[in-house]
Amino acid sequence: MNIKIITPSWFCMGVERAISMLEDIVSKYDNVYCLHEIVHNPNVVNYFKNRWVKFVDNLEEVKDKDATICFSAHWINKFTLSDISKKYKNVFNLECPLVTKVYNEAKMFVEQWKTIFYIWKNWHQEAEQVVEFIKDLWWKVYIFLKKEEIPQIDKNTEIAVTNQTTLNYNYVLSMIEEIKKIYPNTESIWNSDICKATFDRQTALKNSLNEIDSLIVIWWKNSSNTKELVKIWENAWKKVFFIQHFSEVEKLDLSWVKKLAITAWASTPTDEVYKAWNILNSN
Ligand code: SF4
Repeated sequence: MNIKIITPSWFCMGVERAISMLEDIVSKYDNVYCLHEIVHNPNVVNYFKNRWVKFVDNLEEVKDKDATICFSAHWINKFTLSDISKKYKNVFNLECPLVTKVYNEAKMFVEQWKTIFYIWKNWHQEAEQVVEFIKDLWWKVYIFLKKEEIPQIDKNTEIAVTNQTTLNYNYVLSMIEEIKKIYPNTESIWNSDICKATFDRQTALKNSLNEIDSLIVIWWKNSSNTKELVKIWENAWKKVFFIQHFSEVEKLDLSWVKKLAITAWASTPTDEVYKAWNILNSN
């Protein structure tokens, strides 16, 4: 069996940065809390639990004003950050700069009096917080995912389009084209707000489609990035095996597979991918 690793298949910049910042924080401060998962990877969360970081879903659970509070790679509305910074001694924002970019763009669009269309999947924390941020600026934002959900307003309205960073790149481009057909005065920055890590992964997978017949994805269910990756594969009618830990490759029935690839979501450490590859190659 031929086994290839799709490149890139490991920590993205935003995840690596958040983990390294939290490492630094726990080495300097006691009593560290993180609001939600630092990144969408239970192994990383457990690693930090073992270093005494407490993960909470709500800061009301943190009564100690001397606590050190961290916000995860994907989740902070700037108004929330400002409020919380007044309440606790140390507050750190570990948010990915590519998510911050979307906040900054949204603010710029509001200052330009543009009507904002935001393409999103409403279950994701990043998207919810961006939408809340725009609302906190006392501005209206139209949120949707599908073509048939594009809002019907005055055709001459100046529209600014932005999106959740981890959606499918081609899908978002097609949606922006549809919006432009209806609203000629539509602006979007850099084609779309899909982050580079998402774009690179999706492109690498598409480029490999003809070379492989089956794919192993090391993932976690909360990862929007991975769901979009897998869709590319499933749309090509190829077999996908999902695992959450490299050791699970041993249990897969790959007897009929000839050309296999391994990929992973943006919160997977590099060594997990190579360990899976090593196990498969030694069998
Ligand atoms: S997936 Fe993209 S937006 Fe999310 S942390 Fe990684 S680089 Fe940042």
